[in-house]
Amino acid sequence: MFNALMVEKDDEGKTNASVQQIELDRLPEGDVTVAVEYSTVNYKDGLCIGPGGGLVRNYPHIPGIDFAGTVEASDDPRYKAGDKVVLTGWRVGEAHWGGYSQKARVKADWLVPLPEGLDARQAMAVGTAGFTAMLAVMALEDHGIKDGPVLVTGAAGGVGSVATAILANLGHEVAGVTGRPETGEYLKSLGATQIVAREELNETTKRPLEAEAWGGCVDAVGGEMLARVLGQMKYGASVSAVGLAGGAGLPATVIPFLLRGVNLLGIDSVMQPYDNRVRAWARIAKDLPMDKLEAMVQPAVLSDLPALGRDILKGQVKGRVVVDVNA
Ligand code: NDP
Repeated sequence: MFNALMVEKDDEGKTNASVQQIELDRLPEGDVTVAVEYSTVNYKDGLCIGPGGGLVRNYPHIPGIDFAGTVEASDDPRYKAGDKVVLTGWRVGEAHWGGYSQKARVKADWLVPLPEGLDARQAMAVGTAGFTAMLAVMALEDHGIKDGPVLVTGAAGGVGSVATAILANLGHEVAGVTGRPETGEYLKSLGATQIVAREELNETTKRPLEAEAWGGCVDAVGGEMLARVLGQMKYGASVSAVGLAGGAGLPATVIPFLLRGVNLLGIDSVMQPYDNRVRAWARIAKDLPMDKLEAMVQPAVLSDLPALGRDILKGQVKGRVVVDVNA
């Protein structure tokens, strides 16, 4: 038996999440069984703990789109008992039981060995949000980061916090956009040199181009804010579009692409091939200062998750929530 956060759906379609004891033989099929140590709370987890929003394929369901832990049993030659592993993506926690659980059984292809220099807790302090932030920074680098500050939207959230710390550590000037002025000191402690109030970028303008301001952008917000930011990018600069916390629409014009050569780069962390995942985790271990990572962490246990799932959907979580599934 093991403990897990189980989400069930009743006959009227209402979902309910509770910590339950589960039999080991109920785990889904997979080549590797992992004793999970830590998981995290991401925006998608908020959706999956609640009504699901179409993300959850089958109930009852164990959410948790990422986890880190130790291999307990493996039918795959790449892993043996005792190996430390990390998982993000592949619809785990959506279509396959996930990390809000003391045990997980998954395909070996979905795992990555824990990178040198990171323990399981640190790997989950990074989690899917931080892994995605690294992918976003790598995409900007591939296209060339221009002079001037790099803008990070949704800066106090999970993706934004890690992106801010990585970019600052790489020597870039970072401007963090936040709707929570009280997080200004926190963002500065991660390395942001400029704080931009969310309202400044939420105001709509009819002008498709404004003064060139940003040498690159990691955007976790989308919607009107992304549309506005596109018109403020420096000539030839790139925006890594990561999320839609502020809306899925994009009320933009083609002018920034035509007249400023702006690149809009889509970032998907879910289906990243193995080599890319290993490369990104190695960069995280090298380029993300562990003291800054620690400053982002809010600890939690399985029974905290229903409330935290609601909080993250309201944009009220600061930094990264790390769930100790054995506490
Ligand atoms: P968080 O909730 O931790 O952060 C999102 C932040 O966006 C909030 O903290 C808030 O920051 C800001 N925000 C929230 N609502 C609004 C709004 N209405 N208008 C403007 N800003 C808003 O989520 P994550 O960082 O984990 O994820 C961010 C986005 O990235 C989500 O949409 C998520 O689904 C997506 N994502 C995508 C991935 C991919 O593979 N492409 C992987 C991981 C996440 P502040 O208070 O500072 O303003």
